[in-house]
Amino acid sequence: HISRVSLLRLPEFYDEGGLIAVLTTQPLGRALDYRAPEGGCHLGAFVEVPLGPRKVLGVVWGPGRGDYDLAKVRAAFRVLDAAPMREEMRSFLERAADYTLTPMPAMLRLATRAPGLGDPPSMRKIYRRGPSEPDKMTAARRKVLEALAEYGDLAFTLKELAEMAGVGTSVVKGLVAQDAVVEEESPRDLPFPRLDPARPGKDLTDDQARGAAQLAEAVRSERYGTTLLRGVTGSGKTEVYLEAVAAALSAGRQALVLLPEIALTAEFLTRVEERFGAPPAEWHSGATMTERRRIWRMVGQGDAQLVIGARSALFLPFQNLGLIVVDEEHDTSYKQEEGVLYNARDMAVLRASICGAQVVLASATPSLESWANAEAGKYKRLELTARFGPAVMPEMRAIDMRAEQLPSDRWISAQLQREVEARLARGEQALLFINRRGYAPITLCRACGHQIGCDHCDARMVEHRFLKRLMCHQCGETKPMPQVCPACEVQGKLAAVGPGVERLGEEAAALFPEARIATLSSDMYGSARALKAEIEGIAQGAADVIIGTQLVAKGHNFPKLTLVGVIDADLGLQGSDLRAAERTFQLMRQVAGRAGRAETPGAALMQTYQPEHPVIRAILAGDEERFWAAEAREREAAGVPPYGRMAGIILSGTDVAQVFDAGNLLARQDGMLRAIGAQVFGPAPAPIARVRGRHRVRLLVKAEKPAPLQKALAQWVAQLRIKGDLRLAVDIDPQSF
Ligand code: ADP
Ligand code: ZN
Repeated sequence: HISRVSLLRLPEFYDEGGLIAVLTTQPLGRALDYRAPEGGCHLGAFVEVPLGPRKVLGVVWGPGRGDYDLAKVRAAFRVLDAAPMREEMRSFLERAADYTLTPMPAMLRLATRAPGLGDPPSMRKIYRRGPSEPDKMTAARRKVLEALAEYGDLAFTLKELAEMAGVGTSVVKGLVAQDAVVEEESPRDLPFPRLDPARPGKDLTDDQARGAAQLAEAVRSERYGTTLLRGVTGSGKTEVYLEAVAAALSAGRQALVLLPEIALTAEFLTRVEERFGAPPAEWHSGATMTERRRIWRMVGQGDAQLVIGARSALFLPFQNLGLIVVDEEHDTSYKQEEGVLYNARDMAVLRASICGAQVVLASATPSLESWANAEAGKYKRLELTARFGPAVMPEMRAIDMRAEQLPSDRWISAQLQREVEARLARGEQALLFINRRGYAPITLCRACGHQIGCDHCDARMVEHRFLKRLMCHQCGETKPMPQVCPACEVQGKLAAVGPGVERLGEEAAALFPEARIATLSSDMYGSARALKAEIEGIAQGAADVIIGTQLVAKGHNFPKLTLVGVIDADLGLQGSDLRAAERTFQLMRQVAGRAGRAETPGAALMQTYQPEHPVIRAILAGDEERFWAAEAREREAAGVPPYGRMAGIILSGTDVAQVFDAGNLLARQDGMLRAIGAQVFGPAPAPIARVRGRHRVRLLVKAEKPAPLQKALAQWVAQLRIKGDLRLAVDIDPQSF
């Protein structure tokens, strides 16, 4: 089988001394002129270039412009040992930068995240646990040995190891001198085992087989296309898209499966391994730097056939990508909210359209955007209607909380309590869901009415009893629980108000004294790894009652779970966010989908004070088409996404007056936006008006049609002279508006 890569033309070559343009990750705007290094270089090559007194990483972006004093153009130092960035990738980065209005250097940074990118692997010294104990154990030394112990057999570079342990490199060297750590030459990157797409998969149902065939055929076309794969949780979407992966691998192309970070479980990897006989490459934030470097290189050489990853895997240097699956495509964690603001789902479609790959968007509850694209014929549709095997959708019911008359410090209704007890008696699991981290959302002084807020943000401090601190959910700042009220200084009057997941755990422990209770919240575990291990244990039956936030709603399989109780179904419906209905609908359907995945039918009960609310009724009726159609009509009437285009401009700074002045100035100079029929709203305080001591002001831009919004926006914001500590960020397709 001849690899497609070898048939491709080699990129353009620049002889030594020739003028080249090099784009670096430094915030300079455009590519700068250099001379090609010794031996010359290909277009797209990763190079090391001088920048002032420094050495920086760059990519050869094209021929030099020659618009700079030729005598002053400096030579690139060297070509790094990595496959040149392909043209596809360069145009993907350029178009993604245009779309999100991100400067190219920031975009390039996403694609060069592999640490030690340029180092030839055989040259590195690596460090691993040695045979001896140090004769004197210090705290710093212990940290190093613990860091090594946590990752078992892995080896690290000196810098990585010191960083991981939070100590200086001399501590590591000291341990080397005592044989407690050994230093060795790194072997070349370990290859990934070959995956075998020809291994037989599961016997698919007729429905599933039809879907799998449709996707496989699309993949074999080697053309771009997007399919929305919709099916209730447990209907076999994963089984179906794994067949599309098989088709890509059989055709000698690479495949990428994107998952929300938390859904990257061992269970999922095991399924992939069962199907293809070997594990895929796994790209996520918990991966060691050694592992990331290995994946980055192997993907770039075309030697990693399948990558399972979180959103940043989109920026890996695939040589021959044939398929991208975005699982749980509606998940809000696909939107990166810091740094480069992009939605991985949209970027997957962009990337695939450039390299002639297929996209599969899988979800039980698609985003309205994808639903509308399918309605408009831009995406193909594929539906799986039935749950696999005997499992059926859970029975859904509302519990009318107005009739329950609970005391103000109790949240589990008598009805829900009885249902949980019935499950416990049968040895099944129950999940109580509340989308609120911490112990209590409000800490109130009963003497003066003061509520403790964050010193830096416009947010309340949330009590976290587990951590024994108050925490701001905006900026992460924590402080100890005060003894006296910071406002009136009266002692002993601070009270927790309202439920958080920890407090609900307490209530459950009191109501179900015999049951094993597990409280699952992201901040209660030191690492994603520990949290995953806990979730896997629970899935095996290590707990009877699970108390969880939305992280349990994502992609986990709890075979013994037969009851889901939603503590506050109204929570997401409050507030003015236009997407609130969509979010609540998706979340409730997802949570409900956790119940009854195996043989025993499940039930989902929702505690609500407004059982007649249209969204609650649509959830209970399970009538998705009707819900989407109604929601679509409302959005269309309001001219908001996906029917109109929107962008948020966030200005921030420490001086609130200066930030508002800048916003007002921009709002007045909106000629180029009005020329394309777009409107500007604001400036107004941003949804989060103050974060980490910085005031935030937002302008919203709304355009009726897919007008050339980006170009006009770019011209518009370029008018603003950025002074002092003022910052400007553009958020295309904001999540909330
Ligand atoms: P989804 O991705 O839609 O939630 P999954 O693909 O995870 O659904 O399927 C749910 C469960 O049913 C999994 O444990 C899966 O292995 C099993 N399953 C689905 N289809 C089949 C099949 N055709 N044969 C055997 N098991 C299946
Ligand atoms: Zn804060």
